[in-house]
Amino acid sequence: MIRRGVDLSHMPDDCVFCSIVAGEIPARTVHETDEVLAFLDANPLAPGHTLVIPKVHVRHVGEIDDDLTSELFAAVAELTPRIRDVVNADAANVGINDGRAAGQEVPHVHVHVIPRFEGDDGSPIHAVAGERPELTDDELDAIAADITG
Ligand code: 5GP
Ligand code: ZN
Repeated sequence: MIRRGVDLSHMPDDCVFCSIVAGEIPARTVHETDEVLAFLDANPLAPGHTLVIPKVHVRHVGEIDDDLTSELFAAVAELTPRIRDVVNADAANVGINDGRAAGQEVPHVHVHVIPRFEGDDGSPIHAVAGERPELTDDELDAIAADITG
């Protein structure tokens, strides 16, 4: 299958999501534009667990250009309520594991949309990090200033 809209000539050979974009690996596609593809996670954390990806191979979220970022998030915003409705979920977690230390296993940006159910024994996004650091007001001020640039 040849996917529409995307130049696959720079696709790395060993990226499973590029292989899905190229149609070399089957996936349960739920949404497609020229730039974005969404498909069910093969090992879902909940019914309806969906991955939304840019078709172009980009490893980190900060490497996506503004137009593609907009299109990617537009797809996430459109799909999240639809997925919730379809599986009768009460809520959803939406997130990106950006880098290996954050749990990114597939090195191609993907947004997880994970339906959540009252009493499902899962955790909020606050549970992903380790022990909370104790930061002084001065340290917080310095971090905020550095991020602001
Ligand atoms: P990560 O840890 O990189 O954020 O998540 C990668 C996700 O991709 C996992 O939830 C995993 O189940 C999913 N995944 C890995 N390989 C495949 C595949 O070949 N097809 C599909 N549909 N999902 C995959
Ligand atoms: Zn890729």
